[in-house]
Amino acid sequence: MTTTVGAMTTTLTGPVLFKAACPDCRGSFELASDALRLAIGATRRTTFYSFTCPDCGSAVRKPAGERIIELLTGGGVRTLRVQGG
Ligand SMILES: [Zn+2]
Repeated sequence: MTTTVGAMTTTLTGPVLFKAACPDCRGSFELASDALRLAIGATRRTTFYSFTCPDCGSAVRKPAGERIIELLTGGGVRTLRVQGG
């Protein structure tokens, strides 16, 4: 069973993998929950998820909407709550 929210795909059978794409090298790959970090700040600008591109090593940061936050936290991604935005 697969649930798709925007560009993110979670496979509910087996390990949770999140589809991600790198804006630098345009690579597309699947990341396990421990490869992602979610930061929740006071505003949308400080609420984002980040990961390191396995292809080029670039640090990628993308805005996280409510559905993405739900998906990532549900998938066991480490969440950091940022005080003061
Ligand atoms: Zn890359």
